[in-house]
Amino acid sequence: MIEPRIYDLSSPGRMAVRLPESDVELSKLPDHLVREDLPLPELSELDVVRHFVRLSQLNHSIDTGFYPLGSCTMKYNPKVNEDAARLPGFAFSHPFQDQELSQGNLILMYQLQEWLKEIGGFAGVSLQPAAGAHGELAGLLIIQAYHRDRGDHKRRKILVPDSAHGTNPASTTMAGMEVIELPSDPRGNIDLEKLRQICDETVAGVMLTNPNTLGLFEEHVLEVSKQVHGCGGLMYGDGANMNALLGVVRPGDLGFDVLHYNLHKTFSTPHGGGGPGSGPVGVSEQLIDFLPGPVVDIVDPGDEDLPPLYGLVGPEKSIGRVKAFHGHFGIFVRAYTYMRMLGKAGLRDVADHAVLNANYLRVKLRDTYHIPFDRTCMHEFVAEGRWADAPDIHALDISKRLMDYGFHPPTNYFPLIVHEALMIEPTETESKETLDAFVNAMLSIAEEARSRPELLKNAPHKTPFGRLDEVKAAKELVLCCQPVEVPES
Ligand SMILES: *Cc1c(COP(=O)(O)O)cnc(C)c1O
Repeated sequence: MIEPRIYDLSSPGRMAVRLPESDVELSKLPDHLVREDLPLPELSELDVVRHFVRLSQLNHSIDTGFYPLGSCTMKYNPKVNEDAARLPGFAFSHPFQDQELSQGNLILMYQLQEWLKEIGGFAGVSLQPAAGAHGELAGLLIIQAYHRDRGDHKRRKILVPDSAHGTNPASTTMAGMEVIELPSDPRGNIDLEKLRQICDETVAGVMLTNPNTLGLFEEHVLEVSKQVHGCGGLMYGDGANMNALLGVVRPGDLGFDVLHYNLHKTFSTPHGGGGPGSGPVGVSEQLIDFLPGPVVDIVDPGDEDLPPLYGLVGPEKSIGRVKAFHGHFGIFVRAYTYMRMLGKAGLRDVADHAVLNANYLRVKLRDTYHIPFDRTCMHEFVAEGRWADAPDIHALDISKRLMDYGFHPPTNYFPLIVHEALMIEPTETESKETLDAFVNAMLSIAEEARSRPELLKNAPHKTPFGRLDEVKAAKELVLCCQPVEVPES
């Protein structure tokens, strides 16, 4: 099925808007800026609306179906978040507005900082970073600034487990530090013996994702923290996926000195299609002065007659700004609304149900799909998409076939330490009925892989487009819709 392009629908003279007669004098534009031949499509309002609604329906979305994309937390985004973000006081405020006139916005940011501090067990939080990876970079620059401030210039190495998210080594390199890979042991934990050998006075810190990208809680986290601190390094925590820990354990108590949150994963906000996001960083007491600024603080405590005054302040030895203005404010409003709606007990429920749902799927699938690190998981788990008796079938074929059953594929081929990885994250917001339907689809596909493998190899069959050449789609992107024939001038 080929979608009609907007130019094919064009009919000369048709219009979607009617502009009022001009009531001001027309000014003449310079000739070189005026074109007679600009070929714009001409459509009625209804044509335009239908065209774009039709296009939007070609994609799978969290509003239309289950989306178990591991590590990305594609969960239900309450519509009340959107209502809050559209309140005129928030939506129409301007970053150059006086602080006195922005007290509502500043209070919201301050409260969000306070909650993130409490959730993570940290002494300070900056909301500036624009995404998870950006939070990583900010956190690493904080670690660097801390060592330099103490006159310790030898520490250039960051230890990164082989199960880390790809952004971890990338951020380390961007921060001008050296990545040293740490192997995992057979239970999916950091190999402690290897850590012991590497830890020395050139190590700036370790970057640990907990739960890691296998969806497993790092069982040696206290030992890792002791060792790294013992050799003078700091603990960086990748907290992109805090869903499993909310209200259960605070990373600060586990020894983490810096951590980034992904507001757009853990605390809702739709982020399919690459953004926008928000990656605040939390730090322990000794790192507060290095936070990227400005951060929000109470600048005047007020008295009986006057409420406290909130303002933007720059931490003393700040690494500086990492973002224009004050970060992605619209995402703060959504995260704030989500937290307010759930409350403390509700946030704890998020963790309990995220973990329960993931373990439910893991146990239902483990007799059919090999799970290499098969122990109680956190918010996600990783299965292998391959069988000895179906040698031609790869994880990609399983994923494509899932689309025929109406499900978005899990994350594929990540983490790299699992062959043919299928990384599955149900999230806390899905019902047992949805999870059961997904299990049934996965079991049927395993059966088809043996009986009718071509069904998987050629999948998907029911989507608007069949199997695409993914390399070509990425390398030869067509982003601009143009008429096939440009009329001659
Ligand atoms: C998503 C994710 C990141 C990166 O976050 P972005 O907002 O996409 O930059 C980092 N680490 C982990 C574990 C993640 O899941």
